Amino acid sequence: MKFKSSITLVLTLLVFFSCARNPFTGQSTLAIVPNSQLFPTAFAQYNQFLNENKVITGTKEAEMITRVGQRIAVAAERWLNAHGNQGYLNDYKWEYNLVKDETINAWCMPGGKIVFYTGILPVAQNEAAVAAIMGHEVAHALANHGQQRMSAGMLQQVAAVGMNVALKDDKNLALYNQAFGIGSQVGVMLPFSRGHETEADKIGLILTAVAGYNPRRSC
Ligand SMILES: [Zn+2]
Repeated sequence: MKFKSSITLVLTLLVFFSCARNPFTGQSTLAIVPNSQLFPTAFAQYNQFLNENKVITGTKEAEMITRVGQRIAVAAERWLNAHGNQGYLNDYKWEYNLVKDETINAWCMPGGKIVFYTGILPVAQNEAAVAAIMGHEVAHALANHGQQRMSAGMLQQVAAVGMNVALKDDKNLALYNQAFGIGSQVGVMLPFSRGHETEADKIGLILTAVAGYNPRRSC
């Protein structure tokens, strides 16, 4: 078999056997590195980020981030259980932190590791608005958007340099950094595609409503 066609075959098999299911849409999604391997990497990156940044604790704002995060996590579990997805969150280790940084941003890593920057608080003026942002960020994680972005990057690399090099180490940090935009720029997440943003908006609205927040109050 020629080298090129064997690569094509390997890629096809890899995609075929490497899918996860998005419980919100029912669609299969690309997941070359299983969450059981991806999550520990994300958790380590999250801890490193917390170590290198100022985490705010004991303030009203920090308590609000934790409270909203817990309500969104409970809402996610309730929604998933009600729709036949018991156990979907088994590997999640939810954590919610407010970090001193004037950047207007918030994110949720795979496995439920959330950061809100203080810079976003003046923009999100009440708890319902924080919940809407939290719901959106958590939705990216629940729908495995980071996983898909990483898998797509991995396939590109396999196509470019060959199977052995790309998959030599399944915790390949360069790929992880490419997928999440962290590492040298810890905490700066690359933008998601427009399709993923729309999906996160929809799922986020569900989570916010199930958590008992009024989405209209967030405007
Ligand atoms: Zn988003």
